[in-house]
Amino acid sequence: MNAFEYAAPRTLDEALAVLGEHGDEARVIAGGTALVTMMRQRLLSPGYLVSLREISGLDRIEAANGDVGIGALVTHREVETSPLVQERIPVLADTFRRVASVRIRNMATVGGALAHADPNQDPPVTLIALGARVEIRGAGGRRELPVEEFFHDYYESALEPGEVVTGVVVPRLPAASGAAYVKFLPRTADDYATVAVAATVSLEPDGERCRAARIALGSVGVTPIRALAAEGLLVGQQLGAELLLAAGEAITGAVDPLNDHRGSAAYKKEMAAVMVGRALTQAWDAARASSRTRP
Ligand SMILES: Cc1cc2nc3c(=O)[nH]c(=O)nc-3n(C[C@H](O)[C@H](O)[C@H](O)COP(=O)(O)OP(=O)(O)OC[C@H]3O[C@@H](n4cnc5c(N)ncnc54)[C@H](O)[C@@H]3O)c2cc1C
Repeated sequence: MNAFEYAAPRTLDEALAVLGEHGDEARVIAGGTALVTMMRQRLLSPGYLVSLREISGLDRIEAANGDVGIGALVTHREVETSPLVQERIPVLADTFRRVASVRIRNMATVGGALAHADPNQDPPVTLIALGARVEIRGAGGRRELPVEEFFHDYYESALEPGEVVTGVVVPRLPAASGAAYVKFLPRTADDYATVAVAATVSLEPDGERCRAARIALGSVGVTPIRALAAEGLLVGQQLGAELLLAAGEAITGAVDPLNDHRGSAAYKKEMAAVMVGRALTQAWDAARASSRTRP
């Protein structure tokens, strides 16, 4: 690993000033689970590390106007075990629980899960399906982007030089809605996904027909993707084998997986269609249950 200087500013403004001063030489460090590995492998050699860990306010999970705000420094384990997340958005707690091992989840942060922009990560998939927004701060001010627009390419995000992810805002699902996250990982339970799918389904008042749905996938291309064509097929329909087949076909056309040690591209394409069927079935069942308990 290269030698580097280390700063641990106490405010975001201070961190942004240090990042601005050192330009390309500087890198933010949060949990360090990805960055330190990349530095050890000499894939990155930053001369300056700017830790976010002393900055207060970035480690909160809070309810805000029906949404849930999660700060960039909140760890995966904190999302997984948060009573607020478990109660309001159980699929998100479930997704974070599926990441690696407890050791990793105790260190890795929500901001790191986004900024690292690895298409094999779990949290971005569910955040896209939930319609979450990422909050970004830079010297020029604050901006917000839908999570699905945040990923530009393999390990490349919408972050401009000197910008920092400060958190995500996750909207509450409407009444009569359900969500599911399915992670297909045939090797070990702490591996990255071979294919991952998150789906949300909201039902009409009849408790059967789909009013709106969102589907997102991970590990099927250079970024996590949203499957708009498949979503469009679901609206107004009831769940059934033919519908799932059609959605699966639309998925096969939408994904472009890489051949790697987790499977061939052809295998991942087939599994993407299968996993979408499973996620939709689970989300639909949950939506039906939710519609039955609607006040
Ligand atoms: C062995 C192992 C297995 C793993 N398995 C999985 C898995 O199955 N699924 C999964 O989803 N994840 C998995 N992870 C975690 C994932 O790959 C990343 O390591 C993790 O999400 C990075 O979070 P971090 O807080 O440690 O980021 P860091 O390592 O601190 O930073 C990662 C990158 O993001 C940047 N960054 C971090 N925070 C910010 C911020 N707030 N603003 C701007 N830039 C920022 C850094 O500059 C760096 O470029 C695994 C990690 C390891 C080590």
